Amino acid sequence: FDALQQQDPEIAEVVLDELDRLRGGLQLIASENLTSPAVLAALGSTLSNKYAEGYPGRRYYGGCEVIDRAEVLGVERAKELFGAEHANLQPHSGASANLAAYAAFTQPGDTVLAMDLKQGGHLTHGSKVNFSGKWWNAVSYTVREDDELIDYDQVRDLARQHRPKMIIAGATAYPRLIDFAAFREIADEVGAKLMVDAAHFIGLVAGGAIPSPVPFADVVTATTHKVLRGPRGGMILSRAEHAQALDKAVFPFLQGGPLMHSIAAKAVALKEAAQPAYKAYAAQVIANAQALTKALEAEGMRAVSGGTDTHLALIDLRPIGVTGDQAEARCDAARITLNKNAIPYDPAPPMKPSGIRVGSPSVTTQGMVESDMAEIGSLLARAVKAEQGTAAGDAELAKVAEEVSALVERAPAYPRG
Ligand code: PLP
Repeated sequence: FDALQQQDPEIAEVVLDELDRLRGGLQLIASENLTSPAVLAALGSTLSNKYAEGYPGRRYYGGCEVIDRAEVLGVERAKELFGAEHANLQPHSGASANLAAYAAFTQPGDTVLAMDLKQGGHLTHGSKVNFSGKWWNAVSYTVREDDELIDYDQVRDLARQHRPKMIIAGATAYPRLIDFAAFREIADEVGAKLMVDAAHFIGLVAGGAIPSPVPFADVVTATTHKVLRGPRGGMILSRAEHAQALDKAVFPFLQGGPLMHSIAAKAVALKEAAQPAYKAYAAQVIANAQALTKALEAEGMRAVSGGTDTHLALIDLRPIGVTGDQAEARCDAARITLNKNAIPYDPAPPMKPSGIRVGSPSVTTQGMVESDMAEIGSLLARAVKAEQGTAAGDAELAKVAEEVSALVERAPAYPRG
């Protein structure tokens, strides 16, 4: 870091300011986490220098014998941890991993059945502004309006009607467990491939806290930077029969040289996720998300689907008369970072949605437990209810910010020293 400070003080300042931001507030973004110093060390290593197009033992560049060891270790760890026959750690991101799965199993123009973006699906699940909705014929399933759970009967009906080449299970803002066996049965009935996009919850699977999609899916795509607590990037797990098609879809179809520093960091995170401490972490992530949800309900907010089985909750703010964008801005002022989010069947526009999404991965990494979640719930509620722009509201937000600082002092992100 001394070298960075000497060479480029402006960027060094950005790095330090971001560290201060992480240390000084609460990170409740469900898709973020705080990676370990070991993961960061691998990311900031000279492995970033190496070109290594291809796969271990079959590269298009010389000098790969050392970095091959990192990828082999990472792939073996992924296979072992998830009980998968095949793993690929090269996708640069979750979106790239998803495009690779589309490329391996479908052609542009084919029909793909996935969850509606407005109800919790990801951009890559058929959004019109994404490759998936522009180049594929995307059909969307929804959650039921009454209980806000996936409607498996509707998924089956749509599959029978549209005969998709691929069905995608998995979402960005769905707080409940997904019935992978039901999806498998539907996929088999219509002869579709089953892709599970486990970007959000793969870390909970790694820690044995929720059921694994691996035995049911043709392919599981994931990100490594959410609950799993690795570097920003993607991962693919599959049955052996699909290994070649998926590997070819990642390279050479979709990407050139892999990011070897990132692959090494993924290997480190996978080793960390195999430790008993990570099992306890994954269970605590869910306990914390549930405690936070209960605390917010006690403050008059409504949890979509009545709660959570995972690391995240979708909170409907209509009962307290606040919009998601207002809540996000007010929480920002109080050093609580979260995101506005549409709720299923949201009557409000996407930039002023009715809800927020909150997640527990980062605060749990900081060592917080259920009692801390009760405190966070009360601070968050005070922030959300403070009328920003009025003297009283702004004073309340400043006071909450101070209390947030005191709370995170007790369980800091990246403790000093
Ligand atoms: N799939 C799901 C379900 C996600 O939630 C995300 C990211 O939030 C992705 C894919 C894409 O990951 P990335 O942002 O790394 O492209």
